[in-house]
Amino acid sequence: MRKNISLFGLKTKPFSLDCCLSEELLNVLLKWGLKRGETCLVFPKDDTSIKQLHKIRDLVTGERNIRLNGSNTTEMSGSSRRVTDMQPVAHRPSRTLDSNQDPTAQPAVMTFESIFLKTLQSNFLHVMVYENPSLQKKALACIPIQELSRNAHEKLIQARKMDRGHALNEQDILLLELLNWFKCDFFQWVNNLPCSKCGGQTESKENLSPSEDDLRWDASRVENHFCNHCQFSNRFPRYNNPEKLLETRRGRCGEWSNCFTLFCRAVGFEARYIWDATDHVWTEVYSSSQQRWLHCDPCENVCDKPLLYEMGWGKKLSYIIAFSKDEVVDVTWRYSCKHEDLLPRRTQVKEAVLRETINNLNKVRQQSLTEGRRRELLERIIVELVEFISPKTPKPGELGGRVSGSVAWRVARGEIALEVFNASIGDHFRILSLWSSCSLLTLGPQSREI
Ligand SMILES: [Zn+2]
Repeated sequence: MRKNISLFGLKTKPFSLDCCLSEELLNVLLKWGLKRGETCLVFPKDDTSIKQLHKIRDLVTGERNIRLNGSNTTEMSGSSRRVTDMQPVAHRPSRTLDSNQDPTAQPAVMTFESIFLKTLQSNFLHVMVYENPSLQKKALACIPIQELSRNAHEKLIQARKMDRGHALNEQDILLLELLNWFKCDFFQWVNNLPCSKCGGQTESKENLSPSEDDLRWDASRVENHFCNHCQFSNRFPRYNNPEKLLETRRGRCGEWSNCFTLFCRAVGFEARYIWDATDHVWTEVYSSSQQRWLHCDPCENVCDKPLLYEMGWGKKLSYIIAFSKDEVVDVTWRYSCKHEDLLPRRTQVKEAVLRETINNLNKVRQQSLTEGRRRELLERIIVELVEFISPKTPKPGELGGRVSGSVAWRVARGEIALEVFNASIGDHFRILSLWSSCSLLTLGPQSREI
């Protein structure tokens, strides 16, 4: 028998946080069969039907839509603009997007909306690469898994001594170990390659043509890192095939999160590839002990600091979408505590079109899942949706600037910290203490603020 799942996460030490649930929503949730726990709402496992769960999901979605109203019912000026000369937003714009779609039938002029929707399809297809068993095996062989597991085991014992009440498990700590190893020992950041002929500094010049081998590994873009000293063009293909990345072990955030998400799947974590429309990508991992998705940025070696980008890097976020073998989820709201500022920036696609597209993609992908698995995903999405309409406050570690990349690159992207904060890497105990204190929403005074 499975235990009840708490709607708001763990039941350990909830600190007082105004609950975002309106009284109406709370009442209806209770009416639909959720029960009041000591500190949170719980799903009663045995008597809530899938149909009821669907209704709860629609209800929470409805509540969110009410909160989004005003910005998503009107057509955005940017959504139908022509973008003949625009840089595509997709990381893999040339990927075959939809097997049912005739590529020759694409309109000559693409809109922001069509480019955006193609990016969703492309990423949703791409994550299936991580499910290839032989690729997972190859990836696992690169990871010193025994050493990482042993470290995780020892650190868990220490953590338990420090805080007997916490509910972390070995998987949680293993994830931190994996992040740390990946950043410190496995993968390398590339700004400009040193010249392979003379070792001199290089600078970026116009891209080069991909070779057949580049295209085989899904690198349609080949950067030219030109050496002014010896006039040599150093090629830097931007590989999208994670199998190739096991060998090259370098790149920028695209390569980092692509390879790291594969590693997460290889060690058995449930993982999502996260695409941020303002040009960043990272990973989310589902924590079974905490019953929620954890933000993991391998470039930064940080875990569970979702407000890092908005608060630390000063990013003007718009859309952040999660992709896994099972689902696509608009997770933007996890990464923002300024929903009202963010909403007007969501101009690339009408909200209704985005919702419908995501629903359709999920419907197709989830057809082959068992009823038990569909139910599990449904419960998780309800938890997420409630989190998304909940107000958030930044934690100390989320105010830090970007760690990866040169200062020039960070300044160019406007990602130097707004507030100076020493975001020390690999500070597991700080992360642990955040984990044990950041928990949960309690049933408190209602507020409709977002
Ligand atoms: Zn050179």
